[in-house]
Amino acid sequence: MLGASRSLTVAEETLHIGIDDTDSKDGMCTTYVGAVLFDVLRSLGVRMLDHPYLVRLNPNCPYKTRGNAAVALHVKLGRERIGDVKKRVLALVERLYERGYGDTQPGVAFILGEVAGELAGFAERAVREIVSLDEALELAASSGVELHGINGGRGRIGALAAASYRMDEYTFEAIAYRVPENWGTVRRIDAESVRAMDEATRGETFDNIDPETGEIRIAPHTPCPVLAGVRAVSAEAALRGLKMVRFNEPVERVVVFKTNQATDRHLVECSVAELRPNMSAVISGVVCSTPYTIPGGHTFIRIRDASGEIICAAYEPTREFRNIVRSLMPGDRVRAMGGVKMKPEGLTLNMEKLEILTLAEHYVMRPPPCPGCGRRMKSAGRDEGYRCKRCGERLPKSAAERKPLERKIKPGVYEVPPSARRHLTRPLLLNRI
Ligand SMILES: [Zn+2]
Repeated sequence: MLGASRSLTVAEETLHIGIDDTDSKDGMCTTYVGAVLFDVLRSLGVRMLDHPYLVRLNPNCPYKTRGNAAVALHVKLGRERIGDVKKRVLALVERLYERGYGDTQPGVAFILGEVAGELAGFAERAVREIVSLDEALELAASSGVELHGINGGRGRIGALAAASYRMDEYTFEAIAYRVPENWGTVRRIDAESVRAMDEATRGETFDNIDPETGEIRIAPHTPCPVLAGVRAVSAEAALRGLKMVRFNEPVERVVVFKTNQATDRHLVECSVAELRPNMSAVISGVVCSTPYTIPGGHTFIRIRDASGEIICAAYEPTREFRNIVRSLMPGDRVRAMGGVKMKPEGLTLNMEKLEILTLAEHYVMRPPPCPGCGRRMKSAGRDEGYRCKRCGERLPKSAAERKPLERKIKPGVYEVPPSARRHLTRPLLLNRI
């Protein structure tokens, strides 16, 4: 009897798996490791609690590879299988990670059961600022999280963050992967089908095509296993969009990720005095310089709030966005959003978006008409007021005619083009859907 009742109560546990830093600038992709693992575990009958997560961590991280992406899988399984699943995860990471690069330092995290609030707080910080490996190790030890590191294991930071990341704001990306023999070769994607897909799914998918250049944006330019990825507001739309793209090469697998891409979750509202290098911030303030452009085409402006002053940059790759910045004038009230970097000139906010709240009134001054003959007077010299050449009338400087300057920009939110945008930055288009 005892044996029978025991077999009826199969204890199931929730396991959160995080993986980071398996790629290098020259190959592999942590999302691929996540995709393979997702398929492997599913084929073993492990129950998936959600889509795999693609978690973008702090985009200003100095030692990040490309997009600073980590992945997480959330599974439910019988207690007796946990050991075997962990072993398979570690073996897969060992097999797939990009070897021969000292700077690839994979990390794997296993969290059993509920994710404690302290862990979620850590994950949130890993998206917004720089967190240290020591901090990750301490937190893991105190919360009973199992961390594994390979080759130095700096990826344990991202692995812990990904496994504990609370995905309460998200979008989706359906990613198609290439068969290994094609990695590193030119991707064969029918551009026309991408344009047709973009049109057919508009309002649901985003960033398929650069609106300024017409360039296809669903495929990376790196030799990694990703063939193409379609970003969308729903899993269904992401997959439908991807299926509309014609690939002239085999697709190894397709996985739909739930992701914090396009959520603005990296941005922290703060004052100038609170800014630190490598964080992402939203600064509300007043423009306190005229915009200036340096050789190379980078445009700068200074913004002040009650606590201090910061240089805000629109670099050359932000293209047309610079024209917005160049149209700003002292006194304009703005919200500048972007990554903070320490530059020789001082802390600089690399703008991703710019909201113009109010435009300052500026005037063009011109000489008044002559009270005697009605003709326009001439300046009598610096601070000398005005004089009429014809009748000799004089008027003080304060008599000048003030005409409001017509501003070339309007209040509103402006963004950099998709090619210069961070994965985490929410495209303005999504706010209109
Ligand atoms: Zn006159």
